[in-house]
Amino acid sequence: MVVKVKDLPTNVFIPDLPEIYQIEVSRKCNLSCTMCPRQLFCRKDETEFIDIGLIDKLIRDDSLGGSYFVELQMSGEPTLHPQLDRIIIKLRNFVIVGLSTNGTNLDLDCLFRLDYVTINYNAIKDDDTAIRRIKKFVYEAYYHGKPHVDLQVVEMPNWELDYQMLKAEFRHELVYPTFNIRTVPDCFMTVFDEPDNLPVSTELCLNPWLSVSIQANGNVVPCCFSFGDDIVYGNLNNHSLHTIWNLHGGEVDRLRNEHITKNYRNICARCYMRSPMLLHWKIFKDSIRRIV
Ligand code: SF4
Ligand code: SF4
Repeated sequence: MVVKVKDLPTNVFIPDLPEIYQIEVSRKCNLSCTMCPRQLFCRKDETEFIDIGLIDKLIRDDSLGGSYFVELQMSGEPTLHPQLDRIIIKLRNFVIVGLSTNGTNLDLDCLFRLDYVTINYNAIKDDDTAIRRIKKFVYEAYYHGKPHVDLQVVEMPNWELDYQMLKAEFRHELVYPTFNIRTVPDCFMTVFDEPDNLPVSTELCLNPWLSVSIQANGNVVPCCFSFGDDIVYGNLNNHSLHTIWNLHGGEVDRLRNEHITKNYRNICARCYMRSPMLLHWKIFKDSIRRIV
């Protein structure tokens, strides 16, 4: 029997359950960096810390079934969550766990339970004690065998100087298999222009079909850029992830249609990244897979 393409199910590549890319454990931050895009995004519900009961619900509902590596950050500083240790212990039974931090709380024991930690150097570059603190953490992580430490420099103006300085400063630590220094492009959302002045990318973004992030208030959103209420699929306090993801005619379908017809809402029109879930996969493939 010959099977024709038109006879194939149209949703053949869409999983029943998306990968959870990020869980924002903290909306609160202890710094106020000038390049931070947080102030551009509003939420009706400004819950500061995720309720640990919501982590239990995710586990009970088997919502982590499509996930392999979950990062605990989005728009705040994850190390501020008072129950971070318990959250890591719970999630580690099901997925690889990492987080991105501004590096102000690197002395927390629970960080050594993690598989991966990104340190955002831009947030602490003016702090005279930062290099010493990071070095100590990198050494201890090497000694413990984890987490993999990823020192990140955002490509803001003159980033090359920071990058060269860090490579020289950490030349001995760079031989550790558990450490790297990486740069990432600046995000257009951080330049504070009106959307119409920003470049518009029409490259297909895979996130609406494959991946979600979860805000501290329980809102399910399509990606790590969705800091506010611009795109909210539903709330985990009211429904399971499976229900939210598979609801016909809901926000998930609407976003997919916007992307198929290239009729983007502002947040997607000005997004430079497209498919940040692929960056997540790259981090897993290049760094974490070597050590877990
Ligand atoms: S540390 Fe991160 S979240 Fe906090 S203000 Fe700076 S850029 Fe924003
Ligand atoms: S285009 Fe950007 S903002 Fe829109 S869903 Fe994709 S990653 Fe998120």
